[in-house]
Order: sequence, then C-alpha cells, then structure tokens
Amino acid sequence: MKHTLYLKLLLGYIIFGILGFVTVSTITSHMTLDYIKKETISNLYRESKLLAGNYASNYYRGSLTLDDVKSHFQAVTAYLDADIWVIDRNGRILINTRPDSVSDTTVQDFDISTFGTRYYQEGTFFDVFSEQTLSVFSPITIDYKVRGYVLIHRPISDLVSYKDGLLNISYMTLAIIFFCAFIVLGLFTFTVYLPIRKMTRAAENYSEGNFDTKINIHTNDEMGYLADSINYMATELSSLEEDQRKFIANVSHDFRSPLTSIKGYIEAIMDGTIPHEMQDKYLNIILFETERLNKLTQSMLELNKYGIKGSMMDITDFDINHTIKMVVQSFEGTCKKKKISFELILTGITCIVSADMSKIQQVIYNLIDNAIKFSHPDSTITIETTEKNEKVFISVKDTGIGIPKDSIKKIWERFYKTDLSRGKDKRGTGLGLAIVKEIISSHNENINVISTEGVGTEFIFTLPMAQKENEL
Ligand code: ATP
Ligand code: MG
Repeated sequence: MKHTLYLKLLLGYIIFGILGFVTVSTITSHMTLDYIKKETISNLYRESKLLAGNYASNYYRGSLTLDDVKSHFQAVTAYLDADIWVIDRNGRILINTRPDSVSDTTVQDFDISTFGTRYYQEGTFFDVFSEQTLSVFSPITIDYKVRGYVLIHRPISDLVSYKDGLLNISYMTLAIIFFCAFIVLGLFTFTVYLPIRKMTRAAENYSEGNFDTKINIHTNDEMGYLADSINYMATELSSLEEDQRKFIANVSHDFRSPLTSIKGYIEAIMDGTIPHEMQDKYLNIILFETERLNKLTQSMLELNKYGIKGSMMDITDFDINHTIKMVVQSFEGTCKKKKISFELILTGITCIVSADMSKIQQVIYNLIDNAIKFSHPDSTITIETTEKNEKVFISVKDTGIGIPKDSIKKIWERFYKTDLSRGKDKRGTGLGLAIVKEIISSHNENINVISTEGVGTEFIFTLPMAQKENEL
C-alpha cells in the first residue's frame, strides 16, 4: 500500500518549516537590521544635532567650559550607549566620552566631505576603529561658520546583536506556528487520512471479491457518510454476486435435467433398450422436454431484454378491456379441456391506459396461464378492471391451490416454484412471474399478490390511465 498522500503532507510540512526558517534567517534578518540601522541613524542624528546646538556651540561661544560640555556628554553617552566626540575641522578630538576606545587625539586625513550629502557613514571612520562602526555627525555652527562637529559612533555589532535578539522572538513565533501546524497535521491524520486509508483498504478487498470487510467510521461528517455509502455499496454488490451465483446454479440445474433425460432416452432408443413399439411414447417425452428447453431459453431471452429498466418500451394508448378479452380468447381451448370458465368484470365500455401493449399482453397472459394451471377443474377465474385516482387496477383471481405463506415473497424470484405447484405443472420454468415483475417495474407500476393456501390467489397490478385529450 502506498502512503503517497501522507508523504506529500509530511513533505509539505517539512518544506513549510524549512522555508519559514530560511525566510526568517535571511529576508527577515536583513530587513530587521536595515530597519534598526535607519532608526538608530535618525535617533543619533537627532541627539548629535541637539548636542551640537545646545552644548558644543556654547563652548565655542565661551559660555561653557570644555569640561562642562564633556561631563554632560558623558551622561548622554551612557544613555545612548555610544561614543560622543567633539572634533574640530582639522580632525583634532576635543572631547571623547570614551577615551579608552581610541588612543589618538587626532583623526588622520579627516575630511568631512567624504560623508558626501549624507550625515552618516558606515565603516571604520578613517581607520580609527578596528570594527565596523556607524558614525553620525552634526556640525557646530557659530555665525553661519562651521567650527567643528559633534560625532556619535556606535559599533555595528551592537545593532547586529540587537537584531539577533529581535530575531529570536521571530524564531520563537515560528516554532509556535510550526507546533500548531503539527497539531493540525495530527488532526488531519485522524480525521481525514486514516479514514481514507481504511476506505482504500476496504476498496482493495472489494476489488478482490471480498465483500465482508466493513469500514468502521461512525463520524457525523462527510467521511462517515462516505463510509456508510461504501458499506452499503459493498452489501449490495455482495448480494448481487450471491444472486448471480444462485441464478447460474438454477439455470444449470434447469437445463441439465431435461438434457439428461433426452440423452438417456435417445441412447436407449439407439441401443435397442427401448423396443420399437414403445419408441413413440419416449419420443413424445423427448419432444416435451425439448419444448420445455425451448420455453426456458425463450423466457431467459425475454428476461434479459427487460434487464435494463425502461429500455425498449413502446408506450401507446390502448383499451385494456379489449386486450384482456383477446388474451382470454386465446385460452379458450385449454379452458374447455379443464372446464374452467372466465368471469370478466370490466370497468366502462372501454378503459384506455398508457403502456407498452405487447408487454402488458404478456403480463395478462402469464397471470391467466398460472391461474389456469393452478386451478381445479370446474372453477371460475375472475378478471376485473377498476379505475381509481388516474390508475387502472387489473385483477386476476382464481380459486385454485393458493400459495403457502412462506413462499409468497419468493414467487417473484427467477426459477422459483412452490412445492405445491411442482407436482401439478412439470412444464413450468418458474420464470413467468419474474418476467411479469420486470415488465410492471419498467412501467414504474406495482403488482401485488393476495393468496391463501387451498383457497385461491389474486394478482393485482396497476397501469396509468391515458390523459383524455378533451380534458385540456
Ligand atoms: P412458467 O410461468 O415459466 O411456466 P411457473 O408458472 O411455474 O413457470 P411463475 O409463473 O413464475 O412460474 O410462478 C412461480 C410459482 O408461483 C409457480 O410455480 C407457483 O408455485 C406459484 N404461483 C404462481 N401463480 C399461482 C397461482 N395463481 N396459484 C398458485 N400458485 C401460483
Ligand atoms: Mg407461470
């Protein structure tokens, strides 16, 4: 069994994790550092401008001593965590709040024009610092003349470690999201993946012809519904298979017995076991069995035709009363022999129904054929038509042997014959009522039977009345 769906999900989950980590460690990291730099530059610039305007310029005007300025700057340096310098135009460092960081008192090759149009610079500041530093300056202007500069330096490594601190929060968030995704994955596994796997396994079993596997999913959602549907389908398929097996067994049985007797009698005639004068009798039996086989084949072809419901239907409007009379006439000869009479109670002069005439003729034929077969001599068969709610009810009733209670449901099955009838009718194939049922069902109508053993049987089926044109 392949686990591709789950593998894909797992792979997706891992890719999601890796991509998340890579994004945070590259793009987010880069963007955060950029943002911190910009913020720091603008803060430092604001401070340097304040220090240049309020304090350093006062030193040049003579209102503050260098020490006063220095002590004030030292307080700010702690707050900003940066080096603050006052430097004159030639690069001489007048104030350095953190003298330990730089040994020189003059910046070699100091040239403010290297800053260009910007008020900050990233680098080692004329090779004064050993590490990359962010330097922001503000000029000290007296009477529109630049006297010196306030410079604030901050190592880039400070900013990087600040950024790393922020990134740790991002990593934590990512880890929490990853954990949540893991929980979602787990939920998905239990609610979707495992049920699908169960169903796939069951489907594999069904494809091997093993319909016993049941899918045990009883959730009240689409999965539960799907599992129920598949279980139902499996039950239907298994009963279909069972039906087919039964059908083939019955067909084989029904074909084998007449064939065996035909073979037996022919052999006996050929080898002389049956004397010449007796041959006629056995040839008649052979003819009888051949006719039975012929009828069996005919009926099976007939049933096959109706297999697909509604196919080959030729619906017309016709008078069912007339059809009944015609069918009854065709039985006259048989009835005379058995002294059976018909009573027709037909509604109206005509009763127009909408159906396939030749098929309905066959239904009536099969029902009357049964009624005659299973009736006692000197009895009456009643055929009645009644109209009710746009339907015509057709009933064929006899006072014959009846059907035992436990057989009533089975008479519609192919090849089924009650034990009572077996003795009475050896010619019957047990397919007549199956054909009747198929025809009535293909008309979307119903057929019912009421029978009492030893009293009689009544079959009633419905047909739709034709739409009367003058009603419109
Ligand atoms: P075929 O119709 O192929 O000649 P059949 O008459 O035996 O054979 P069905 O018409 O399908 O088969 O009927 C099935 C069985 O139902 C019969 O064998 C008989 O046992 C029972 N049955 C049908 N109609 C009647 C009836 N009117 N009275 C008593 N039993 C009946
Ligand atoms: Mg019959």
